Amino acid sequence: MTVASEPFLDEQTALACVHCGLCLGSCPTYLETGNENDSPRGRIYLMRAVQDGRLPLGDTAVRHIDTCLGCRACEAACPSGVHYGELLEATRDHIERHHHRSPFQNFLRRVVIERIFPHPLRMKLALLPARLLKRAGAEHLFPQFVQDSLALLPAEMNEGHLPELSRAGDLQSPSGGGGYKPPARPRGRVGFIRGCVMNVMFGRTNEHSIRLLNRAGYDVVTPRDQGCCGALHAHGGNLAAAREAARANLAAFAREPLDAIIINAAGCGSTLKEYNHLLAADPRAAAFSAKVKDLSEFLVAAGFQSAIGNRRSAIKVTFHDACHLAHAQRITHPPRLLVKAVAGANYVEMPESDVCCGSAGSYNLTEPEMAERLQRRKVENILRTGATCVVTTNPGCLLQMRAGLDAAGATHIETLHIADFLERSLACSAPVMTRGGFN
Ligand code: SF4
Ligand code: SF4
Repeated sequence: MTVASEPFLDEQTALACVHCGLCLGSCPTYLETGNENDSPRGRIYLMRAVQDGRLPLGDTAVRHIDTCLGCRACEAACPSGVHYGELLEATRDHIERHHHRSPFQNFLRRVVIERIFPHPLRMKLALLPARLLKRAGAEHLFPQFVQDSLALLPAEMNEGHLPELSRAGDLQSPSGGGGYKPPARPRGRVGFIRGCVMNVMFGRTNEHSIRLLNRAGYDVVTPRDQGCCGALHAHGGNLAAAREAARANLAAFAREPLDAIIINAAGCGSTLKEYNHLLAADPRAAAFSAKVKDLSEFLVAAGFQSAIGNRRSAIKVTFHDACHLAHAQRITHPPRLLVKAVAGANYVEMPESDVCCGSAGSYNLTEPEMAERLQRRKVENILRTGATCVVTTNPGCLLQMRAGLDAAGATHIETLHIADFLERSLACSAPVMTRGGFN
């Protein structure tokens, strides 16, 4: 146990919490345990008690901070405007510098999450034996946590091979392009963040995202030297590494003027939009953050719904709000607008659509028990809708929901990134979508 009373919280931010408790009902961990220490109000109290030296930085306090998903549902619900995410990141940074963790947790956090996941080549190499094991059906020979991790691996992975420049005018009008007409002149030029997990596991989704931007009339630049956004580091309590990642991206996207910088992963998007806080003293960071847009946010602002035309879905479709889109970025309407444009009357709202699915970045690896409880809760809510297609905007949510649906025997329900959902709807000529495409 380590006692540390070094100040790590911004006093004003911490004092903004008036303990009203209005955030409690939105907190997934509190909903599951009913324990005040697993609520936002309780956690803020613990953080302040540690900072003031009234509570040692021991296993008990750390446990309640570790089980926080960082989903920021409390932040969206808080009438006092408490910046819970900032308090959490500062506390986690303090914990990682002063608290002693088990060798396994250290390996998971410092090696797997911080040194493998943010590097696509390392991730690919690390996933190779895991995929072979899964293919051979040998998971049961390993401890439960290995089995749980393997369950998250998608059956199909595709790496992205994105061109450095993808011109709107180069896009061949696809067969029955669903309202797409190659623009006479591009409407503008945007940058694209390819992401780490996205590029290794969901490469085709990245390609579809760029295609949608081209369809909307934009040239898309994907700088080769861009790197991890720093979200995994920031959420895991390594703010120094997160700042380093942010600086590298500021340089990579500074080469030419861009109208916007597009990201299709909600978790990365919220970190990119907060570079201005992460690098508060760097004026380039504020300009960068102001340009970052979620794919759905940008497409709707560009009037892309009209390109979807009069498509309609023959299957029931529902939508899951990724926490870092709904709560951290407060974006709930644009993705629904796009999904509803395809699904029409077959769109069905999911109960608790904005309650975390348990993925929460790397949470399902570090806190598998709570992650599984929330995964089950999410699957039950999906099943309640009767939908056979769930659309979302974040790779972690896709993996978590897929694994949960498979475990529940609900293999007939598809899980799709919104870019794949939209591109599928636009790439076919017939206006009725069924499972797997339009016909
Ligand atoms: S975080 Fe906000 S909503 Fe929650 S107890 Fe504090 S002031 Fe109230
Ligand atoms: S970030 Fe999510 S899990 Fe953590 S206290 Fe807030 S609502 Fe609860």
